[in-house]
Amino acid sequence: MQDFIFHNPVKIYFGKGQASHVAEEAAACEGPVLLVYGGGSIKRNGAYDDVIRALAAAGKQVVELAGVTPNPRLDKVLEGVALAKEHGVGLILAVGGGSAIDCAKFVALGAGIGSDEDLWHDYIESGRPAPEGLIPLGVVLTTAATGSEMGDSAVVTNTAIARKMGYTSFPLMPRFSVLDPSYLTTLGRDQTNYGFVDMFCHVCEQYLSLPSDDNLSDELAEAIMRHILRSWRACLADPSDYTARSNAMWDSTMALNRIISRGKETDWVTHGIEHGISAVHPEVAHGAGLAVVHPHWMKYVYRATPEATGRFARFACTVWGVDPTGRTEAEMAAEGIERYSDFLARMGCPRTLAEIGVPADDAHLDELAAHHDAMGGSYQHVGTAEAREILADCVEPVAF
Ligand code: NAP
Ligand code: FE
Repeated sequence: MQDFIFHNPVKIYFGKGQASHVAEEAAACEGPVLLVYGGGSIKRNGAYDDVIRALAAAGKQVVELAGVTPNPRLDKVLEGVALAKEHGVGLILAVGGGSAIDCAKFVALGAGIGSDEDLWHDYIESGRPAPEGLIPLGVVLTTAATGSEMGDSAVVTNTAIARKMGYTSFPLMPRFSVLDPSYLTTLGRDQTNYGFVDMFCHVCEQYLSLPSDDNLSDELAEAIMRHILRSWRACLADPSDYTARSNAMWDSTMALNRIISRGKETDWVTHGIEHGISAVHPEVAHGAGLAVVHPHWMKYVYRATPEATGRFARFACTVWGVDPTGRTEAEMAAEGIERYSDFLARMGCPRTLAEIGVPADDAHLDELAAHHDAMGGSYQHVGTAEAREILADCVEPVAF
C-alpha cells in the first residue's frame, strides 16, 4: 500500500430523531446560526421543523440562506458569505443534500478568508488550502448521494464562465452530521437513482485505479459496491422501506469518507467530465450526467490501459457476478461494464446524452470537453481530447 494519513473527525449522529442533537451542538457555538437549504423539500420531509425545534431549544437566533439550487452556484455562496459576516454567525447548518452542504462549506470558506482575497480565483481555481479556524459547519442530511456530509470536498458552479469545479481541503470537514434515514422517504425515483449512481461512482473512482497490490481498501470497496446494489433495488422496490433507506444513507457516507482510498491512487475523471456537462447545462442532475458518462469512461480506460484490464475483470466477477470460467480478462471486463449499463437501464437511469437533453453535435461535444473539470486520471490520463472521445461515445448506450 502507499503511505497515507487518515484523519476524519466528523461526528455522525445516525438514526430516527437524531436532529435533536442539533440543540447541544448549536449551544456549544457562540452567536446566531446560518441555516442553509434548497428549494423547500426540507419543509415537506420534516427536517426543517426538527431543526427549528432544536435551535429554539438551544435559544439560538436563526438567519436563513434559502434557495440553494441543485448544482449550487457561486453567486448564492457569496450571498451567504455576506449574511454570515453581517450577522456574525457562529455555526453554519446545512439542511438538505450535497448542494446545500457544498454551498455551506464554501460560505464558511468565503467568510474565513482575507477581505483582499477572492474565493473563486485564490482558492477554488488555484486549489490553495483553506485556512484553519473557519466557522464550524453542521449538516442535517436529506439525500443518500454525495458523501459530502463526512468529507472535505465541495463542488460549485461559476455560471459567469460556465465552470463547475471541485475543491478539497481539510478545514471544510463538517463538525457533525445528522443522518436520519426517515428524511429519505420523500425522495422520488429519479433523485433516488441519481444518489445511487453518485455513490457507486465514488466507490469506483477509488477502486478502479492503481496500484493493483493486495490491499484492504479494494476489498472494502467491493463490499460497499455490492451493498449499494442491494440497497438500490430495495429502495426502488419500496421507497418507504426504512431499512433500505438507512442502508443507502450509510452506503453513501462510507463511499466517500476516504476510508476506501487509503493506500491508493484515485481517479475522478468521470466526475470531471460530468462537471463539464452540468457546467454548460446546470439543469442536468449530477447523478444523471454520471450515469451517462461512467460506463463509457470504463470502456475507454480498460481498452486504453493494459494494466487496468485485470482490475476491470475483478470488478466484473466480484461486483457483477461474471463467471470467469474459460474467459479472457478482456472478455470479463467488457461483460462487467455491459452488466452495469444494463442495470442502469433496468433501474430507469439515463444512458445517453440525448436522454439528459444534451445535444451531441461536434461543436457541442467540443464545448463540453473544453469545460470538463480536469482531474487527471490513474490508469489513463484524460485531458480535453480524451474527454471528447469519451463524450462522443455517449451518444449510444455503451457497446463493444
Ligand atoms: P441536491 O442537489 O442536494 O438535491 C437535488 C434535489 O433533490 C433538489 O431538488 C432537492 O430539493 C431534492 N431533495 C433533497 N432531499 C430531498 C428529500 N429528502 N426528498 C425530496 N427531495 C429532496 O442532491 P445531491 O445529489 O445530494 O447533491 C448534488 C450536488 O452535490 C451536485 O452539485 C454535485 O456536483 C455535488 N457533489 C458533491 C460531492 C462532494 O464530495 N462534496 C460529491 C459528489 C457530488 P430542494 O432544493 O427543494 O431541497
Ligand atoms: Fe459525486
